[in-house]
Amino acid sequence: MALSPDLLAILVCPACKGDLEHDPQAQTLTCHRCRLRYRIVDGIPVMLIGEAEKF
Ligand SMILES: [Zn+2]
Repeated sequence: MALSPDLLAILVCPACKGDLEHDPQAQTLTCHRCRLRYRIVDGIPVMLIGEAEKF
């Protein structure tokens, strides 16, 4: 399921409130400032710092 562009436009990193990079192939949202990667599950971004993957 694709992430809606409207939703994508308002999403920010919950840790720093910065912009996120959307990767539609990997189904992730990446914050380069925090070096955290948030997953998108069934079209719903999991915007929880505890659930994010560090890279
Ligand atoms: Zn961040």
